[in-house]
Amino acid sequence: MVAVGILALQGDFDRHARAIQALGQRSILVRAQEHLSQCDGLIIPGGESTTLIKLLKEHAMWDALSAFAATRPIYGTCAGCILVANSIVGMDQDSLKLIDIDVQRNAYGRQVDSFIDDITIQLNGKAEKMEGVFIRAPKIRRLGVTVTPLGWHGSDVILAEQDRVLVGTFHPELTDDRRVHDYFLRKIKANQTR
Ligand code: GLN
Repeated sequence: MVAVGILALQGDFDRHARAIQALGQRSILVRAQEHLSQCDGLIIPGGESTTLIKLLKEHAMWDALSAFAATRPIYGTCAGCILVANSIVGMDQDSLKLIDIDVQRNAYGRQVDSFIDDITIQLNGKAEKMEGVFIRAPKIRRLGVTVTPLGWHGSDVILAEQDRVLVGTFHPELTDDRRVHDYFLRKIKANQTR
């Protein structure tokens, strides 16, 4: 069994914990730096990225996350994706720079700030359909050459990875579809044997 940390300072952590448990693995709510040592991987959930940054710094966890990422996988969803990106388009917002992508916050505008739509994922060598839940979602505006796209909404990349870091702009934890969480668990298991 692997132990998956879910950053639980703010936002949508409970549904991620349930998704991990539904896949038969252990979830650990991470609220302090010392909780990270028990985790084989970490999910940074959706929420409000500016609030998350503030709380992480207040809890002295900002640098701890970078150190964690050097040896263990991280999956950033939505605000979590913004947090781990290289830079935030058009804003002077801090980020952990764990994956070579540039992200634009709230990129779908007011009219459609939250929606559900078909997306395509490619996690097992072939393209598959999935339902994507987007909530005031960011868009990935630039992917570095070392970043592999794994999911699309139209022509927008909405799921991608680089080495140990997986990012998605949508919320699989809000559906019963566990394919993305399952993929992250496989990433954690592969990391343990490397
Ligand atoms: N709009 C939020 C932000 O900019 C992200 C939304 C989410 O995580 N669902 O941080």
